Amino acid sequence: MPIDATQPYDDQNIFAKILRGEIPATRLYEDAYAIAFPDIAPQAPTHILVIPKGAYVSWDDLSARGSDAEIAGFVRAVGKVARDAGLVAPGYRLLANTGLDSHQEVPHLHVHIFAGRPLGPLLA
Ligand code: IMP
Repeated sequence: MPIDATQPYDDQNIFAKILRGEIPATRLYEDAYAIAFPDIAPQAPTHILVIPKGAYVSWDDLSARGSDAEIAGFVRAVGKVARDAGLVAPGYRLLANTGLDSHQEVPHLHVHIFAGRPLGPLLA
């Protein structure tokens, strides 16, 4: 079910549980601001999720409430995950669903990294 991105942060969401280690996930990357792990239902040969360690519902929430260090740290982490996975030359796509019309399902900000095949036009 898509979520309303204006709702308060719910610390029982599945990505909060992954952050706390209550649900297993293969940590492909971790630093002070973010972790990355494979999407459980990949929609491309490479499908990685990068999430901030801070409690933010959505891209909107991080951009509005996050500190400059958290925002910069998260953006740098997304770039580093893609770079370290060798995705820059072949190319990759970032996606951050926000709220109902985007069909955001998990109410903790996550950026999808899709790669590994030609992805076609956006929204195709
Ligand atoms: P959204 O639609 O942008 O919110 O995407 C949520 C994503 O989280 C989907 O691509 C799911 O496959 C993924 N997902 C849900 N639960 C888990 C999990 O436990 N581990 C990894 N990915 C998950």
